[in-house]
Amino acid sequence: METVRFDELELDDRILRAVTDMGFEAASPIQAQAIPVQMDGRDVVGQAQTGTGKTAAFGIPLLQKIDPDCRKLQAIALCPTRELAIQVADEIRKLAKYMHGIKVLPIYGGQDIARQIRGLKDGTQIVIGTPGRVMDHMRRKTIRCDYIHTVVMDEADEMLNMGFLEDMETILSQLPEERQTVMFSATMPAEIQNIARRFQKDPVTVKVVKKELTVPKVTQYYYEVKPKTKVEVMCRLLDMYAPKLSIAFCNTKRQVDELVQELQGRGYFAEGLHGDLKQMQRDRVMNSFRSGTTEILVATDVAARGIDVDNVEAVFNYDIPQDDEYYVHRIGRTGRAGKEGIAFSLVVGREVYKLRDIQRYCKTKIIPQAIPSLDDITAIKAEKIMEQVMDLIRDTDLTKMVNLIERAVLTEECTSLDVAAALLKLSMGEENEDIIDSGRPARSLDDLDRYGRDGGGRGRRDGRGARDAKGSRYGRDSRYDREGREDMARLFVNIGKNQNIRPGDVLGAVAGESGISGKLVGSIDMYDNYTFVEVPREYADAVLRAMKDVKIKGKNVHVEKANGKGR
Ligand code: AMP
Repeated sequence: METVRFDELELDDRILRAVTDMGFEAASPIQAQAIPVQMDGRDVVGQAQTGTGKTAAFGIPLLQKIDPDCRKLQAIALCPTRELAIQVADEIRKLAKYMHGIKVLPIYGGQDIARQIRGLKDGTQIVIGTPGRVMDHMRRKTIRCDYIHTVVMDEADEMLNMGFLEDMETILSQLPEERQTVMFSATMPAEIQNIARRFQKDPVTVKVVKKELTVPKVTQYYYEVKPKTKVEVMCRLLDMYAPKLSIAFCNTKRQVDELVQELQGRGYFAEGLHGDLKQMQRDRVMNSFRSGTTEILVATDVAARGIDVDNVEAVFNYDIPQDDEYYVHRIGRTGRAGKEGIAFSLVVGREVYKLRDIQRYCKTKIIPQAIPSLDDITAIKAEKIMEQVMDLIRDTDLTKMVNLIERAVLTEECTSLDVAAALLKLSMGEENEDIIDSGRPARSLDDLDRYGRDGGGRGRRDGRGARDAKGSRYGRDSRYDREGREDMARLFVNIGKNQNIRPGDVLGAVAGESGISGKLVGSIDMYDNYTFVEVPREYADAVLRAMKDVKIKGKNVHVEKANGKGR
């Protein structure tokens, strides 16, 4: 697996800076191949799908050709959907961050055409549009083609599936003869090959040539998640499976840093590894991981190369890898030296199709799983503790403890069973409300084929993660220590930012209803759908009583004591 660095691609310095800001560690395989060819001015047929980095693969060379001083339309990229058009425009804008004077405009059906016309007149050089709307503007002459030197067809096979073949042909036939024509498509049906033949000049085909790979024997699960609930799901899996050592893979340096911060903030022993670290820092992180002080190593593919640790019990694909080969390398980090390993992939939206392709190509089985509920975690934790308890009963002398319990049972109103149950609860930490509904299992990857891309549920809402996971807490072990002040009680209010509530509203309600001074109210942590507010412990019950049947900004609220350390 050879890595191509962006600074080896002879890119404009400003793009290089932008790419660094975006946290990209190395060019993805399709970028490494497509960028030089396109920069050479050749027509390109790129066989790649979403998630491979294809947008930057055509976006970077396209940007290099734009003259910012010329306020005419110079490039058009056609996309099948409005979502993709917006996404592509966003990515190109990020890449153009340091190139002043470049204007990128997404145009698609359903949006006010007058607004688009204003945007087009305002010196836009790059249009990212859906075929129907682009044609419309061509007819109105609000898109003029005279200065267009580059056209990109993104997801050409999808445009074909959506009935845009004729529109694509019409648009291509109206563009200047002298131009560069770039086409990206996941598959190459006859109609697409035909377009390439008719509208491209001697195109170079780039695709990632796949090597025969041996997939390690590792149990592989995947979970369909929402971007917002990714960290939460990962934490649940960590709690449920409690791997001693695990590696979590991210696609960018930036994501590595973010995930490490999130995990550390939640009390996990996590450290990051990526190309920005000095050798000394890398050594420190690796030593700490080898010794088990760091339990979760969060890394990019490039940084994780050459890591040689045998007892990694779990691999997390926090981001789905950009290449099938990476997947195999990643999961091969676990299940070594004859030990069992497990790999978890978190997929968001359309990434599920990429995972299907990985499964297909690697001839492996990636099994869909429901996100574990807190009940699942509780049950497993209890089971683990009970196993340890049984070991203790078997292997140690517990006479002193038995005497203590006996005394408690004789002097207090409780049974030894009550004591055992309370101790179990204590050692498990407290369990709280379920933040994510576990829902039903994700679709099997084979079902995606059976029902087709659209029928199978493109854009399906899985109904999970209805609440924000940020700041969510539930029982963890003693590492999970976010205790607030001893003299304060933390209350949970079932209303948050999404209901247009501000901290001041909560403060006003608490002080106003209970009569305690606002000065006595402690921190107010507001999340999307709920809020935590601290009040002096001695007033907690009074505040709760006063807050019964209260409305905040006209909305009924429910206030209760927040359980556990975190809440
Ligand atoms: P795409 O295949 O263009 O839809 O890209 C998928 C995601 O990968 C986007 O979020 C990109 O920003 C990101 N990406 C593109 N190139 C790279 C790279 N070289 N390294 C890491 N992430 C990348």
